[in-house]
Amino acid sequence: MEYRVLGKTGLRVSSIGMGGIPLQRVDEGEAERIVNTALDQGINFFDSARGYTESEAKFGLVLRKRRQEAIIATKSMERTKEGILQEVNKSLKALQVDYIDLYQLHNVKSLAALDQVLGPNGALRGLIQAKEQGKIRHIGITGHVAEVLEKAITLGEFETVQFPFNAVELGPTEKILPLAQAHNLGTIVMKPVAGGAIPDKNLALRFLMEYPVSSIIPGMDSVEQVLENAAIGQKFVPLNDEERRQLQETIKDLGNTFCRRCEYCMPCPQGINIPMIFLLDGYWQRYNLKEWAQERYLAMEVLPDNCIECGICASRCPYGLAIPELIAKVNQRMGLRQ
Ligand code: SF4
Ligand code: SF4
Repeated sequence: MEYRVLGKTGLRVSSIGMGGIPLQRVDEGEAERIVNTALDQGINFFDSARGYTESEAKFGLVLRKRRQEAIIATKSMERTKEGILQEVNKSLKALQVDYIDLYQLHNVKSLAALDQVLGPNGALRGLIQAKEQGKIRHIGITGHVAEVLEKAITLGEFETVQFPFNAVELGPTEKILPLAQAHNLGTIVMKPVAGGAIPDKNLALRFLMEYPVSSIIPGMDSVEQVLENAAIGQKFVPLNDEERRQLQETIKDLGNTFCRRCEYCMPCPQGINIPMIFLLDGYWQRYNLKEWAQERYLAMEVLPDNCIECGICASRCPYGLAIPELIAKVNQRMGLRQ
């Protein structure tokens, strides 16, 4: 396995790490087999989140016993000091470990949210306290919005940044990655296969391996997937011309139907959270997390049937998504209770 330095943390992480979302949908026995196999194959970087329901607990079944072999990352959406201190304790309990290597502020979506976490009662203060107490070792941030991450990178408060990056979402390579490198932040690549939208995972991961990122973290829900993904980090084979052409075809096909969560379409005058609708639809269609996705979908304040087809969103989308039509289709899929 190729190991790369996680920026200023100094940790050496496997170039292929493991994202924790899919562990939610496997039983405990399968989760143990998956995580044990990952460690056996040299994968040492595991990323979970408070928001991924049972994911931390399932990682913990194995990682508490093989603690020295693992670098554990997790994250929370809490934005206050007190709130995140409680979340750190919950993570430690779920994972059954006495420290976490990397705790991240999860999905900081706007400059206002960034200001809040940086404030005197903000979550960053909580993480600094947790670090002083030895409960966590390093602090990072995750998100999808380039301008938020760009600002966060330059603050000097974070040691890592996690962002979506894949063959159809190349934006970060242009801005976030060089900036993160210049400030020596570790770079963690989420959504490496565009949430399952790129059908050939092998091509998608090998494409990313050529970039100077610290760890690429596909989700895995079977031992076979672990073996396939780990093999890419163990013996990297660059894409040949034919494979590059195939990937280009995929990118073209996904061009104006795949939401990159850049949020340029927002705000919608009707209050519809457009990127969230596409995100949950991805979980519904490609991640086999139908119940989980629909529960969150139906809990949203405003559903697509409130769309008045004003077209403002579509005119702002840099990728040309026909948003009103696409969200109406999503609503047909997920808008009715089963
Ligand atoms: S719909 Fe378009 S503008 Fe809106 S988040 Fe997705 S890609 Fe960005
Ligand atoms: S077309 Fe619909 S979703 Fe788009 S901005 Fe208008 S009301 Fe909102």
